[in-house]
Order: sequence, then C-alpha cells, then structure tokens
Amino acid sequence: MKKLVLYDTMSRRKEVFRPRNPPAVSMFVCGPTVQSELHLGHARTYIFFDALARYLRHRGYDVFYLMNITDVDERISQAAAGRGEDPLKYASRMASLMMRDLESLNIRSISRFEPVSRHVDEAIRQVKILLEKGFAYEAAGWVYFDTTKFKRWGRLSHQSKKDLSLRPLELSPRKRSLNDFALWRPEVLIDGLWPSPWGVGSPGWHIQDTAVTIPILGAQYDIHGGAYELVYPHHEAEIAEAESVTGARPLVRHWVHTNLVKSEGLKMSKSLGNVVTVREALRRFTPDEIRLASLSIHYRRETDLSGLASARRRLRGMKNAARRFKDRAASVALPLTPFERALNDDFDTPNALAWAEETLRSAAKEADRDKAAAVAAPAIEGMKILGVDLLEGA
Ligand SMILES: [Zn+2]
Repeated sequence: MKKLVLYDTMSRRKEVFRPRNPPAVSMFVCGPTVQSELHLGHARTYIFFDALARYLRHRGYDVFYLMNITDVDERISQAAAGRGEDPLKYASRMASLMMRDLESLNIRSISRFEPVSRHVDEAIRQVKILLEKGFAYEAAGWVYFDTTKFKRWGRLSHQSKKDLSLRPLELSPRKRSLNDFALWRPEVLIDGLWPSPWGVGSPGWHIQDTAVTIPILGAQYDIHGGAYELVYPHHEAEIAEAESVTGARPLVRHWVHTNLVKSEGLKMSKSLGNVVTVREALRRFTPDEIRLASLSIHYRRETDLSGLASARRRLRGMKNAARRFKDRAASVALPLTPFERALNDDFDTPNALAWAEETLRSAAKEADRDKAAAVAAPAIEGMKILGVDLLEGA
C-alpha cells in the first residue's frame, strides 16, 4: 500500500504517517466549547477529520477517534446566566444540540465523546504532579504553569523567545512570567465549582484536554487535530503539560491543523457577528453539499466556503452520472487511482474530488455500459470513502 503523508505542524514538513502501534491509530480532536451552536467554521474542521478517519479506516487502520466537549468555561456560565439556566445543564443541552448537528452533517467516525466536566479529578491529579515536579506554582488560589521551566515551549508554534515575549498570555500581576498560563482558576463566575487543594475553582482550558487524553489515550498518541488558531497557546500548552506530567515525549506523532473559514473576509466568530450556524446552513444546503464544499478546498488553505453554491451543481452532475451505473456498481477494491494518490499526498481532497468528477463525466460518455460502469466504479467508491454516497436515494 502506498504511503500516506500528512503535513505536520511541528516539523513543518510533510511526514510519512507512522502510527505507534499499527494497525491501531489513536486520534484526538479538540471539540467545541459548547457556549453556542456549531457554525460553518466548526463544520469544516470536523468534516475534514471525519473524512480523514474514514480514509484511515479504509486503509485498514483501526482508528480510535476521541473528541472532548468543553463544558467548563466562563463563557458557558455567562451564556447560561443570561438565560437563568444552570451552567452544567445548559452545557449538556448545548452538547446534545452539537451532537445532533454533527450527525446531520453525516459526521459518524468519532468513537467517543468526553465532556470535560467528568474529568476534573484527573485535571486536579495532573496539576498536583506539575506542582510536585516544579513545573507549576500557586498564587492566591490560582495555579500557573511555569513556561520558563519547559525547554520546548514555543516549538509547535515556531516562535522564538522574542516572538513569545510579544504574545503574553492571561495578563495578571500574580504570574511570574508573561507566557505562564492558568492550570487552576478560582473564579466565582463558574457555578458547579470543584473543591481542590487550592480552593474551590475549575481547571484551566488547556489542562482540560490532557485530563481527557492521558487516561484514555495514554501518554502518547498518533494524531492531534484541531483548527489552526488552537496551535498557540492551546496545543503548545497541552504539550508542556502532558510531557511534564508523564515524562514521555513526543505527546503526539502528527499535528494536523485546519485553516480558517472566513465570512465577508473576516474570521467567522461569534464576537464579529458574522457566524453562519450549521443549522442555518442545513436549511439551505444538503449535508453532502456542505461536505463537498468543505473538501473542495485543501484543509490547510483558508476558505470562505463560497463553493457552497457550486457544490450543488457539481454534486448533481456526479449523482446523475453515478445513477446510470446503479445496478452495475459492484463493490470494488479501490485500485491505486489518482483519487487515492491525491489523498495520500497530504489529504489533497480538492484533487481527489476533481478526479472523481472528471472520471464520472467520461464514464457517462462511454457507449459500452459495462466498460462505463468499470470506469465509474472507483470514483463512486472513492466518494463513498469520503462520506458522500452518490447512489443514495438513486
Ligand atoms: Zn482542545
């Protein structure tokens, strides 16, 4: 089988995909903070990782795909307070809506969802270890990670000491240095506060991820995914915490990040008010159209998803062509076609889709039905691997 290469944010190169214990593959993707509904920015990221997991399974890997759900955050408490709801209840209601949206988008590859609120004990255990080992310090009910103690701080985001000095985190007079970040917060903003050796409070955002991954995936795993904006400080902080807690490194073999979805030239975000929610999008487009538009742009490029309108036309063309072979579309073992070659090269879905489209077009022109069906089969099969069943409802 041909090698699969994926661009690695850490090495800044395309690296041959080599899981630690093949055929097992452990994959973790940062789930959303459930203070509001999923938007198209989330959809792009989660559709990409869904397609990647499906492809890895097609290649024979036994993929365990874990996603956390951030249900502990002061933005959630604020949103809940605005509605007079209990924060954890509000978060669990929003998490159900999120699962519904993921399911509507045909994102079905995730093996396990873990709400962070169930892992606070583990977060406390890790903070204790970091304090014992001297990687953390306590200050008035807060616990901070001391980034000056972690030699590899800044490596994932490729920042020099000077770069880092220009990007201070969480400004506070309690901190020893600018990049230190909170492991434990005493804030009163969040209800459902947890008791800890440092007083009642809640775990900081970054340690919420390692609290979920270390017990479930272990000290090291294969793929960590998420949106590009999470590289610094979030993923940088996860490396510092996990590698300091366990002593094992690297935490992750392959760091995979998706680029931004912009709307009207700006990053889609709640604060900018330019968000298109998944639910709104699904009123106008089908899940397959949203998937096709998302995968039409390479995952490392920015997109405004302006391809949504043309996705409808493209998909219709592909489905019409595929339907002609409905009765003949025997299940084929996908030969090494340009489709698979494209995916093996840093998951180049735009090229894979273009090949499938072109192949179906030429199959449709072929006069001999058997020959045409044989030409079309790998394209139909390939699209199915990416999560688009061209024959569904045919
Ligand atoms: Zn995360």
